[in-house]
Amino acid sequence: MSFNYSADKNMLLNKTILITGASDGIGKVCAKTFANYGATVVLLGRDQNKLEQVYDEIEKLQPGKVIIHPLDFKTAAINDFQTLAASLNEQFNSLDGLIHNAALLGARSPIEFYPDQDWSDLMQVNVNAVFRLTQVLLPALGKSSDARIIFTSSSVGRVGRAFWGAYAVSKFAIEGLMQTLAEEVENTTGIRVNSLNPGGTRTNMRRDAYPAENPETQPSAESIMPVYLYLMSPEARTIHGQALNVRGFKAQA
Ligand code: NDP
Repeated sequence: MSFNYSADKNMLLNKTILITGASDGIGKVCAKTFANYGATVVLLGRDQNKLEQVYDEIEKLQPGKVIIHPLDFKTAAINDFQTLAASLNEQFNSLDGLIHNAALLGARSPIEFYPDQDWSDLMQVNVNAVFRLTQVLLPALGKSSDARIIFTSSSVGRVGRAFWGAYAVSKFAIEGLMQTLAEEVENTTGIRVNSLNPGGTRTNMRRDAYPAENPETQPSAESIMPVYLYLMSPEARTIHGQALNVRGFKAQA
């Protein structure tokens, strides 16, 4: 049975949450959901036009609650991340949530023949950008009394699987980053850090990974939002340093 959570309509009021890969798939639905529960959402993505469409959808329902920041993680330099952080610092007192969701899938190929360019691109987008964004935003997250970082993982980031190459390795790296950071911030900040494996979800990435599959057999991004909302809720305050799964998710006392 899927996880049910009914959040107060204003649960995320006065919270600012940044979502990467907010132009499509899970990230887009996450941004809309958080805005719907009162959050101000900062949308990051590489495609300005797609981000503007999401902006318009949110702005129509929740005016004044959304800003966009186009950034291509494949080509972004360290100073692009610093510029983003400086711009957020000017606009907000603190940051209450960081959802690391953007990722590339890359080739499915044996390691022996894995394309070198895909390896570099995936490490850049799925790992290096996640590290850099986390690093520049930690001061703003540390100013919040109750901040959350969710790293997006995958089942192949927990147990390796043949032919998943750099994608699997990048998700293992994300788990390592999550664990390392969780221990560092546990006693000195109000930041709670976890990884979440959304499980098979009906998005472009899933379709690319399983082209022969009927997409309708997979849950929608909307259907997994109760877990994301719960992880941003006051009840989830004690969840920290954990590798979580949407499938079979249970509230923790
Ligand atoms: P999608 O491919 O639908 O969306 C990925 C998002 O990341 C898009 O917004 C995309 O932008 C963005 N993105 C890709 N490359 C870059 C880049 N270079 N710079 C900035 N943004 C970029 O994927 P999902 O929604 O399915 O996946 C979301 C997360 O969930 C990922 O971390 C994925 O690994 C994970 N996941 C997904 C599963 C699934 O079944 N869907 C299963 C397990 C894990 P654009 O719109 O321009 O393409």
